[in-house]
Amino acid sequence: MRQYQYRLVVIVAALAAITASYHAIAADYYKSPEFSVPDGTTIIHAGTLLAVPGEEPRAEQSIIVQNGRIAEIRDGFASLADVEGDANIVDLSDQFVMPGFIDLHVHLTSQAGASRKLDAVTNTNADLAMTGQMYARRTLLAGFTTVRDLGSRGNAIFALRDAIKDGKVAGPKIIAAGSAITPTGGHGDIHGFRQEVLDVMPSTGVCDGADGCRAAVRRQVKRGADVIKVTATGGVLSETATGTGQQFTDEELLAIAETAHALGRKVTAHAHEAVGIEAALRAGFDSIEHSMWADRDTMKLFLKMDAWIVPTVYPITAVGDTPEKMKQGPFKDMPPPIMAKLLRLQSQPKVMTRLAHDMGVKIALGTDSGVSPHGENANEFVEYVNAGMTEMEALMAGTVNAAEAAGYADSVGSLEIGKAADLVAMRASPLDDINAVLSLSFIMRDGVVFKQTH
Ligand SMILES: [Zn+2]
Repeated sequence: MRQYQYRLVVIVAALAAITASYHAIAADYYKSPEFSVPDGTTIIHAGTLLAVPGEEPRAEQSIIVQNGRIAEIRDGFASLADVEGDANIVDLSDQFVMPGFIDLHVHLTSQAGASRKLDAVTNTNADLAMTGQMYARRTLLAGFTTVRDLGSRGNAIFALRDAIKDGKVAGPKIIAAGSAITPTGGHGDIHGFRQEVLDVMPSTGVCDGADGCRAAVRRQVKRGADVIKVTATGGVLSETATGTGQQFTDEELLAIAETAHALGRKVTAHAHEAVGIEAALRAGFDSIEHSMWADRDTMKLFLKMDAWIVPTVYPITAVGDTPEKMKQGPFKDMPPPIMAKLLRLQSQPKVMTRLAHDMGVKIALGTDSGVSPHGENANEFVEYVNAGMTEMEALMAGTVNAAEAAGYADSVGSLEIGKAADLVAMRASPLDDINAVLSLSFIMRDGVVFKQTH
């Protein structure tokens, strides 16, 4: 018995040594000239501070950052003498400062383009990880300090999430779904290849029947999923002429939602047609992605179930929101089953978002980046103002609302004592002109400065 205990002590000591060397690597990486981990306390002078979107901004504030977290927020500009120990000052005294942005719907390991079908059969997990770190960095440099990745092949997304957490690569904090839960032949299943090819590319997210789907949810959690993503209806970019209606049965959706919640995970559904959205809402889903064809009755059910909409408006604008633009845009060579579905969308994302807003449904920001180019995520804020939200409501969607919808409001979404020092700065006030979010002068995530052009 004693011998086993001795061995355990040796193993624990070895693990501790390995962990220490990882942290040394992380510190080295961030000490490259482009990023900096300030020693000791950082005092940020904010000309205007919107600490909690939804509340009034305040002039001339000091944010005191220690160990990557907000230690204190004070009125006026604090000096070095006002804090104990080593300290440095970041002068944003002529800038508008607010919490880092949150995008609840991205696909970091890919980006739709002409090669997307070839990519599916040529990219290895290692390729996906390399691609993902490039897009993660691009997303962070657009001001997004937290994202939710809702579906990727293989296990690269988990490696990317953990590498960012350990400080090995630059990127936003990632809430990862792993593979989407999908029925056989559904939107999240691999398709569009000959049978022999399909046979060697099974997805861990495919399931049928209530029991099968319970197992699929458990499998994603076992693989490392922080959230469960489900394709409740058909999708626009699947190469099957099966429409965008309900694909999982009511029974399957209920089994998925119950299992996810029992394992402490939020569950969100990709859904387009009202019938599929409503089935997921009745099953107890926390949020619905896209929700393109949600009508007044659907919105009433959102209110009744207290669920969130994540609208994903920008990708449709990016690929063309009229048939003419669509046929000249980046998706012009899509195969006929996909093009038919694309052409139906047009201004529907904006129409749906306006209706949701008018009826008081809770909205959290998501872009589906990977469909639109990574790094253009902040355009979603502009779309929300175009769809009738005030500038403040749009900013809330991509900060406090997104944090609450994802279940991470205790650590991100607002600048309050004890929360992560995730913040961005811009020259102009986005409350006057929402386009200000498109040009940032300063980006900090967990106390590390990733951009400082000011
Ligand atoms: Zn998506």
